[in-house]
Amino acid sequence: MILRYSIDLPTLQSIVGKDNVSTRASDLEAHSIDESCVAPCLPDAVVWPGNTQQISDILRYAYENEIPVVPWSGGSSLEGNPVPINGGILLAMYRLKEVLNVNEDDLQVTVQPGIIYDDLNAHLRRLGLFFPPAPGSADVATLGGMVANNSSGMHAVKYGVTRNYVMQLKCVLPNGEIVDIGSRAKKSTSGYDLVSLMVGSEGTLGVVTEITLRLMGLPEQVSSAIAVFDTLKDATDAVYDAVRYGVDAAAIELLDGGCVRVTNEQMGLNLRETPTVFYEFHGPMAGVQDQVTYMREINADHNCVEFDVAGTPERRAVLWAARREARDSIKLSHAGEILVSGDVCVPISHFGEMVEFVHEVAARTGLRIYVFGHAGDGNLHTETILRRNNEEDARLGDQATNEIVRRALALGGTIAGEHGVGLAKKAFLLEEHGPEAVALMQAIKQVFDPKGIMNPGKIFA
Ligand SMILES: Cc1cc2nc3c(=O)[nH]c(=O)nc-3n(C[C@H](O)[C@H](O)[C@H](O)COP(=O)(O)OP(=O)(O)OC[C@H]3O[C@@H](n4cnc5c(N)ncnc54)[C@H](O)[C@@H]3O)c2cc1C
Repeated sequence: MILRYSIDLPTLQSIVGKDNVSTRASDLEAHSIDESCVAPCLPDAVVWPGNTQQISDILRYAYENEIPVVPWSGGSSLEGNPVPINGGILLAMYRLKEVLNVNEDDLQVTVQPGIIYDDLNAHLRRLGLFFPPAPGSADVATLGGMVANNSSGMHAVKYGVTRNYVMQLKCVLPNGEIVDIGSRAKKSTSGYDLVSLMVGSEGTLGVVTEITLRLMGLPEQVSSAIAVFDTLKDATDAVYDAVRYGVDAAAIELLDGGCVRVTNEQMGLNLRETPTVFYEFHGPMAGVQDQVTYMREINADHNCVEFDVAGTPERRAVLWAARREARDSIKLSHAGEILVSGDVCVPISHFGEMVEFVHEVAARTGLRIYVFGHAGDGNLHTETILRRNNEEDARLGDQATNEIVRRALALGGTIAGEHGVGLAKKAFLLEEHGPEAVALMQAIKQVFDPKGIMNPGKIFA
């Protein structure tokens, strides 16, 4: 094991306590790789802080000694975002998982960053409130990770992304300074929007230690439906019309036929193995019924061969499990192989074309590429399967990624709809934004982090 930084363990122990610092191989390994396919990298030490002041003291020490610090919450990123590629101190946020305050009157909550998305919503449910974004990783993704990656998910089409909900943040800057940014007011035109800057900064500008979110009231009625099609074109045309004609669906998600096959395989389901769109509707009882009827008509116009409404919560849970477990099903069906994740997002009018293009790339390269995702937002996830230690697959995988990303950019889209840039997509940042905009981003990074200690090597090539 190569330790790249000589870290003064007694100093860290004096800040967080002896039991909350580790250089054990098992702890270093557990924090060396996220859910992406990037190569693992060991930190030099793992530290579990218990409060903001401890994080400030750790950063002050790291800043003085120019040691990298990488925040880590759930480790479920898909682009290498929390992988400590330069070693240093890994700041594991698991102990910071409290709900600090629910302001029911204003529909707001203040939490620590280590709380898991599903746990927060379980806490809020009894108050009739919820935090909507709903990532596919809801059972492991934490609020700190969601804020840092500006995550979203199945409900973004109706409710928006994490950034739309963050009102205030307590942050520790790389030099150890503690700052409070944002406001609890619904609107503000007061100064630069530092909260929006911090959201999506992937741990490169500082450490978030408290988050105040606005919340939504739970809808009176929730209903789901799946629409099954013979062709991808019919499925994506139906998605387009659903968005274009203003059906206010809470989720519009697509699985291609291959994804349905692996979810059947792994979850013992019996869904038809052709392109399938999953819908969810929220609202008052009558409104939801109208939406379902309207959606059924739109899908029928596009040769939908089956439109199955899940009337009960049990049936809804089964249908949505298929969508939610799509990535894990692909992973299980390809155990031992490499999954290269993609997350491009294009304007909605180009979604169908983009999905067809990915299938064309798969046919041309001979690689298996699964397509699924948040169709109503034009956001598609791809999983490209590569055999391990196979140079030709690696070459074709790079070619496929390049072609998919470049086509998305040519269509006016982005390289990363919700997973961030991390390590895996940083080669494309310049192509998306151009040199002037990237130089501005780098200048901002320099203001926050002149010594470059926060999560180094991420976002910028
Ligand atoms: C099966 C599966 C499905 C997924 N589905 C979705 C989806 O639908 N939508 C989506 O958006 N993502 C999805 N993801 C990706 C991932 O789950 C999200 O990006 C998630 O928000 C990451 O949260 P985390 O707690 O795991 O963060 P981590 O992976 O631990 O960290 C994420 C980034 O945030 C930084 N960070 C962590 N905590 C802090 C902090 N307190 N302060 C500052 N920086 C911090 C880290 O350094 C890193 O750069 C999925 C992943 C998997 C494995």
